[in-house]
Amino acid sequence: MNDHSPLNMDPSEFKRIGHQLVDQIASFLEELPSKKVTSALRPGEVQQLLGFNALPEYGSDAESILTTSAQLLFDHSLFNGHPRFWGYITSSATPIGVLSELLAASVNPNVGAFILSPMATEIERQTVQWLAEMIGYTPTCGGLFVSGGNMANLVGFLAARRHIVQQDIRKIGLADALNGKRGFTLYCAQGTHTWINKAADLFGHGTDAIRWIELTDKEQIDVTKLEDTIESDLKMGYVPFLVVGNAGSVGTGVIDPLQELAAICKKYNLWFHVDGAYGAPAAALPELAASFKGLSLADSIALDPHKWLYAPLEAGCILVRDAKHLHDAFTFNPDYYNFDGDLTDKPVNFHEYGMQNSRGFRALKVWTALRQAGRSGYISMIRKDIELARYLAERIASTPRLELVTVNLSIVSFRFIPEVLPLENKEKYLNTLNEKILNRLQTGGQVFISNAVVKGRYCLRMCIVNFRTTQSDLDVLVRVVLEEGDKLLHSQPLEN
Ligand SMILES: *Cc1c(COP(=O)(O)O)cnc(C)c1O
Repeated sequence: MNDHSPLNMDPSEFKRIGHQLVDQIASFLEELPSKKVTSALRPGEVQQLLGFNALPEYGSDAESILTTSAQLLFDHSLFNGHPRFWGYITSSATPIGVLSELLAASVNPNVGAFILSPMATEIERQTVQWLAEMIGYTPTCGGLFVSGGNMANLVGFLAARRHIVQQDIRKIGLADALNGKRGFTLYCAQGTHTWINKAADLFGHGTDAIRWIELTDKEQIDVTKLEDTIESDLKMGYVPFLVVGNAGSVGTGVIDPLQELAAICKKYNLWFHVDGAYGAPAAALPELAASFKGLSLADSIALDPHKWLYAPLEAGCILVRDAKHLHDAFTFNPDYYNFDGDLTDKPVNFHEYGMQNSRGFRALKVWTALRQAGRSGYISMIRKDIELARYLAERIASTPRLELVTVNLSIVSFRFIPEVLPLENKEKYLNTLNEKILNRLQTGGQVFISNAVVKGRYCLRMCIVNFRTTQSDLDVLVRVVLEEGDKLLHSQPLEN
């Protein structure tokens, strides 16, 4: 061991500083509920706090670096682990996940190849299988961990294209694979997450290749319009290859009619991908079986453990019915790899199944949490989030000046509607008013929510993927929305 390396730490120093850091983290977690959700600083203010120092020429003491770093973060962050954080779809992180990250970084396996990460590779494989079991997907599926829902969906997209397109598109490229046809096309509901724009752009199709299918009055994809669009594309010489269904849409948590989508895909020989980044874990709840019917028929499913499985960022996962489809879509075998040696049971080398080469051990924090809570523990946490969302929806529905707009899974959208409204441009007035309320809520620090636009109506929207939330936290939300709405009304005359 080189005692003179500036980054070395002897074991006693590691213990002392490590214990101090764990103590600080434990107090931080304990004090979370009494802290503001966010200090809502502006970039300039944060830069000021950080100081405008240049890269240090010489190093300094590890203990003070860690103590001050912890303090900076604990004092000036937004805390998605706070019981009143319900913005976008970001969960409260599990404590066991926090500790698992420390453990994963300590062993630091490169989960790109089995030989570089024997235990980690098999833990990742087992975690993928458990996630499939949890949501009722075939446990013999393939899959792997990625950074999040975007990446999981992108991997599914490429697996779909490689499988459905007859020619070797990976070798000859998009233009030749088209063989004189007009273009490859893909289908999803309006409001599908922007990963699909990124995929169509990045992978050379252009965003015009996306057919945004209209919604029914239940906000689900209109399957009749979907089929009509596929038919007309076929007549015009396009090559449809992919249908995406939402299992919990990002805006309002709607689940598309998955079984009907699966039937259409079967009829036209298209790949059926389900974006369950947010909602898929709720398929574990027996009482939701009817809503998720057809999920098990998907060719691939994206699921984000850093959302409803409460894993610390980052953890996304893609499940594919047959691991072969991932292998077909990604493998290259360079001559500088010697990963298989003379092993008789052929190992899984994850670099052949996705976009990354060197890979971190994202699965550990998910595996440990699944073991700590078990299936039944997860079912009761997810069920509780849904029950809390319904409780809030009832409170909103029975509160004057609040209008309930949607409630699906654990996402609720609603509006503040004053008793007196302008005579003209009512909707425009309400949109502006609710946007102003949201801006105040997001900087006030009492609660944190985000927004959704439902049929042109600007809504306040909250999503509970938070095992720390209680009913009284939701009572605070109702009170704060009314207070901010009333304050805005009194400080400003009605504008048209
Ligand atoms: C969050 C989300 C995504 C994107 O996932 P990231 O983890 O943020 O990359 C995609 N689709 C849906 C339905 C989502 O909720």
